[in-house]
Amino acid sequence: MSGLGKGVVTSSVLKMLDFYGYDAYPIKFDGYLNHDCGTMNPYRHGEVFVLDDKSEVDMDFGIYERFLNKSLGGDLSITGGKLFGAVINRERKGGYLGEDVQIIPHLTNQAIENVEVVAKRRKPDVIVIEVGGTVGDIENSYFIEAMRQLALKHDTVFLNLTYIPKMDVVGEQKTKPAQLGFRLLLQSGIRPNYVVCRSSSQLEAKTKEKLALFSNLSTDRIIDDSDSKSIYLMPLHFMKQGLDKLIIKDLKLERKSIDRKKVEQWEHKVGRIVKPSNSVGIAVVGKYTRLRDAYASVTEAIVHAGAHTDYKVNIKWVEATDLEKKNGMKQLEDVNGIIVPGGFGKRGTEGMINAIRYARENNIPYLGLCLGMQLMVVEYARNVCGLENANSAEFNSKSKYRVIDLMENQKGVKQKGGTMRLGSWRCKLRKGTLAFDAYKSAQIEERHRHRYEFNNKFRNTLEKCGLVISGTTKDGNLVEFVEWKGGFGVATQAHPELKSRLENPSPIFVSFVDNAIEKSKG
Ligand code: GLN
Repeated sequence: MSGLGKGVVTSSVLKMLDFYGYDAYPIKFDGYLNHDCGTMNPYRHGEVFVLDDKSEVDMDFGIYERFLNKSLGGDLSITGGKLFGAVINRERKGGYLGEDVQIIPHLTNQAIENVEVVAKRRKPDVIVIEVGGTVGDIENSYFIEAMRQLALKHDTVFLNLTYIPKMDVVGEQKTKPAQLGFRLLLQSGIRPNYVVCRSSSQLEAKTKEKLALFSNLSTDRIIDDSDSKSIYLMPLHFMKQGLDKLIIKDLKLERKSIDRKKVEQWEHKVGRIVKPSNSVGIAVVGKYTRLRDAYASVTEAIVHAGAHTDYKVNIKWVEATDLEKKNGMKQLEDVNGIIVPGGFGKRGTEGMINAIRYARENNIPYLGLCLGMQLMVVEYARNVCGLENANSAEFNSKSKYRVIDLMENQKGVKQKGGTMRLGSWRCKLRKGTLAFDAYKSAQIEERHRHRYEFNNKFRNTLEKCGLVISGTTKDGNLVEFVEWKGGFGVATQAHPELKSRLENPSPIFVSFVDNAIEKSKG
């Protein structure tokens, strides 16, 4: 079954290895034929995650980075699109002259090659490969065959994540679906070394024994992965069951002792998530609020900032279009901070602008992320500088005051995939600003994913009416941070949420949450 949290299990395995000092890297295989996630709708697929190197990847990369506290690269994302593309390209170049090109061995060899290229380049101690989808899917079947073959050449263990339902009426944990899944893997020539059991309540001894019997495994290899208060608890939970030691032994890794201090610091942070001292409420005003996965990184960046400040930050999800309706604004009355996150398309933008105006006029801490910055500029232009109907060219290309517009180099772009301003960009921050105070540095790097920019034609006008431009690209050409004078209102063209990690929270989120806490104290 999909949606069991393979990303969390993969990340937990990576983190356990990281606690011992092993250099571990993930690889994610996704069966779809898109080259990458860049052209996917977040409503269908969850958020598109962006790496430093401009790759637009599956949201699982966000989980890997947040656990590992390490920046990853696009080579670690293997998609059906990339594999098929490579095979077809090679065929056209005559790379398989005389042969008829087939799924096995050509596509499977390509998959193995992509994994081995990562191994050669990065020389890690361990690679943890997450296979997207479910056993039995056509989309990932050739990849699973490739992994079977890979295991013939390298020290490999297989981990089977499965679902253990509990029927309310009977109150008993059922193992049949897990047995069938396991059998399907055996049919593919893969014998899992561990079975990780996702369930709503703790795995019962009886269930464990039954699963062990049917899978020819000892009971210590049947691992509980039941619902928990925080995903960040999982590496600790698996370690309590000895999964770390089993994997290290099975892979014949060089013996290392665990870094106790690192584990304790992790435990300390997780403790604050699970049992925070205090709480504060903020609103996230967006257009994809019905699917939380669309804002996964924003949510986690808030969790990290909360763990840092020892506050639970309660998020109120506000559908932006509701703020365009009568009485809609009432929803913002009880919050102590407002975030407008990234997004595409016109729907909801007027509601977001209403929220930003409300924050500015009522001195409520505001954080704008990408679209949230663009709309902060629009709101300021309209309501403070009096530029009537100011807008972003994305939403009104006829507006006289297109304070957000396409840059010249974006105007001729026809191809959609991989053509936005992407990846990590260096930014200069001006001393004495909210952004500088948050980062405590004049030079920072954040990740981007957008086409539109602050329109420099309006820079003077907006600055004259009081908008502060606190950060730009190194050459000063592109505006990266803007803010209000007086209260806490700051927004960036970047997506700082993408670089926030439990062990290294995003400075601007921490600053925002600090200000929301101050506001809540009155
Ligand atoms: N739609 C806007 C742009 O393309 C903002 C994108 C975003 O928020 N990621 O510039």
